[in-house]
Amino acid sequence: QRIGVPREIFPGEKRVATVPDVVEKLAKLGFTVAIETGAGEAANFDDDSYRAAGAQVLPDADALWAASDIVLKVRPPTPEEVARLRPGSILIGFVWPAQHPELMQQLSQRGATVLAIDSLPRTLSRAQKMDALTSTAGVSGYRAVIEAANAFGRYFNGQITAAGKVPPAKVFIAGAGVAGLAAIGTAANLGAIVRANDTRAEVADQVKSLGGEFVKVDYEEDGSGGGGYARVMSEGFQAAQRQMYAQQAREADIIITTALIPGKPAPKLITAEMVRSMKPGSVIVDMAAEQGGNCELTVPGEAVVRHGVTIIGYTDLPSRLAKQSSTLYATNLLRLVEELCKAKDGVAVVNMEDDAIRGLTVVKDGAITWPAPPLAAP
Ligand code: NAD
Repeated sequence: QRIGVPREIFPGEKRVATVPDVVEKLAKLGFTVAIETGAGEAANFDDDSYRAAGAQVLPDADALWAASDIVLKVRPPTPEEVARLRPGSILIGFVWPAQHPELMQQLSQRGATVLAIDSLPRTLSRAQKMDALTSTAGVSGYRAVIEAANAFGRYFNGQITAAGKVPPAKVFIAGAGVAGLAAIGTAANLGAIVRANDTRAEVADQVKSLGGEFVKVDYEEDGSGGGGYARVMSEGFQAAQRQMYAQQAREADIIITTALIPGKPAPKLITAEMVRSMKPGSVIVDMAAEQGGNCELTVPGEAVVRHGVTIIGYTDLPSRLAKQSSTLYATNLLRLVEELCKAKDGVAVVNMEDDAIRGLTVVKDGAITWPAPPLAAP
């Protein structure tokens, strides 16, 4: 079978679903690989590097989709792309079926099979190697710190030099999931004093192991909502949390927010009042901007200055480190294709008896198979 990789067409999207090193490994599984010309350009992989790895380079999207038995993508397909998807073929990429009911109908009408990498059952340890949400969140957390450092007018690390004494920057991280933990590690490595909070008490040790201090809300309530995710907290907890965050906002130079609750708008943790209380020149990076933001003053997709504080609401953090995020994503997809082709004979088999594969298969031969039944308790 032939695996095809089109150029991503979403405005500003710089990632690509496979990279030259991975092309070689897909070939070893028995597949031929084709890419659309320019597919990797924005991530600094030129056509020649794919050719050298053994890929064919096709001249346009029509040729690419027509030639592909399996299509690897990053962003959910547009209606134009769905129309190019061959009946009987397999599409692999981010789909977000809950947010895109119309797209699901269109995909089903094409008679294709669709594997949504966002629907992978993340709690299966066997699935971790394919977990693109984790690799993407890791890149985003790192990049959030780099964006903050770029907008901040001082060093992160403390210094004592002949020119004077410089105090270390104080960084507060709201939400210590995958992205938050990556941000904690990165900020600590740059030498900042890092504090973090999460409603799930279980993350306190992970925060410490990355060099951060876990700050507790003075209220007895745990926020674990199942599957490692958070739930909406009581009014009483939220009031106590606001008080603690107000204190942290006054002390911090940089705040990075990452708090999300599955299926809900992002919790508003940083109020306009808290922003006003921050020192001029402080920076907020709101990684929840796309889900409505954790800060009341965030403008999704933009960097704005409010009350002397730079508030960064970029929604394209993975594209801002496109080579790295593409490489990790391509490896996640390679691990998935390996699972689909255990015989290494260049033919993908979607085995619905396999829990991991069942979980992410959202359309099978034109039939909508999302949502998957819950996993049996271990
Ligand atoms: P996420 O992006 O949904 O949320 C980010 C963080 O925000 C979470 O840690 C959440 O607890 C926190 N949060 C939510 N509301 C908050 C509030 N009001 N105040 C403060 N913090 C708040 O989560 P994620 O990063 O995708 O993953 C969450 C968990 O899932 C992690 O613990 C991760 O280890 C786990 N996970 C497990 C597996 C696995 O078992 N194999 C795989 C991937 C992730």
